[in-house]
Amino acid sequence: MSAAGVLVRAAAMVALSASLALSAGVAQADEAFAACLAGLRRDATGRGISPATFDAGTRDLAPDRSVLELLDFQPEFRTPIWDYLAGLVDEERVADGRAMLARWADTLAEVERRYGVDPATVVAVWGVESDFGRAFGSRPLLTSLATLSCFGRRQGFFRGEFLATLRILQDGDVPAAQLVGSWAGAFGHTQFMPSTFQRVAVDFDGDGRRDIVGSVPDALASTANFLRRAGWRSGEPWGWEARLPPGFDASIAGRQKRRPLQDWLRLGVRPVDAARAAGVDPQARAAVLLPAGPGGPAFVVLRNFDAIHSYNAAESYALAIAHLADRLRGGGSFATPWPTDDPGLSRAERRELQALLAARGHDIGEPDGIVGARTREAIRAEEARLGLSPTGRAGRAILEALRPR
Ligand code: CA
Repeated sequence: MSAAGVLVRAAAMVALSASLALSAGVAQADEAFAACLAGLRRDATGRGISPATFDAGTRDLAPDRSVLELLDFQPEFRTPIWDYLAGLVDEERVADGRAMLARWADTLAEVERRYGVDPATVVAVWGVESDFGRAFGSRPLLTSLATLSCFGRRQGFFRGEFLATLRILQDGDVPAAQLVGSWAGAFGHTQFMPSTFQRVAVDFDGDGRRDIVGSVPDALASTANFLRRAGWRSGEPWGWEARLPPGFDASIAGRQKRRPLQDWLRLGVRPVDAARAAGVDPQARAAVLLPAGPGGPAFVVLRNFDAIHSYNAAESYALAIAHLADRLRGGGSFATPWPTDDPGLSRAERRELQALLAARGHDIGEPDGIVGARTREAIRAEEARLGLSPTGRAGRAILEALRPR
């Protein structure tokens, strides 16, 4: 054989072995998934999940690797708290929430009698979690959770969620086809994780199923039960917006730095609306929050703020729920503005901004009020064109700059 022939043969063999390695890689991943499922099947038995339930739930299950990218996704864009609140507590959500308070008034009154959590708080959680049932997420829970149970960096946590999901199927609480949600497995009106569902979901409409997807009464009562179990105190406010005394030492603020309420009053931290603090135990443990530093609005928060915080561990989240609940009760915006000259936009204004960007030829997809990478890219391009510094942020300044004059 000539030298050239050997080289051609060698090259062909390299190509062949590469394609074998590729299919071997896929086969190995399939094998790893199958072995992982077999292990989960053994764990399931210990959790009271029958082999029949397991096999029915995992038949034809294939991993969805896109959830692993979301697991490792680090947002490159940090949302300022005024943007976060402007989108979650806007006129649309207040109007929708008030309509829901009226529509479900009897159910909410019964929920309050049973669990001690007021209607406005329950409806505020509903509005922020799933936009009153409009946004459940559309990823099949078993696919996402099986993938996260077998690959990636939090397999132990997700195995518990996967098995809790199979338990939902076995108990017949939610039909299999309706078990869809976020990439991480939060589902239904309440966006509970399956383990949270198992811990606190209740059957409130009395049909024998705890169905937080198909039953609004079950979902509202389950939210109230969550808050009650998290230490909710009936009749006590979450807290209030406060005014700080001149020269307030910001280092004593922070959710974990609790003092008796009367100490804060003595230090001159006064409620904006004095009526809010009336009747609250002066010994109640309270903290001062300064979400945007001492130059922005200040808040005194009590036990119920912590109960909301445990629903989704972020202070901005808890503040959105608390503020939306106040707005649903007829309260207004914060007395102290956020420390910015470029405030955040409501969802309606975000849609308007997206329509203006689309009209200028930017491909931002459907104007849905959700500010994603393409919208931010278009904003950056327009900022550069207008001689502004390119931030990619959907704020009032760029909206007003693009509005026709
Ligand atoms: Ca039910």
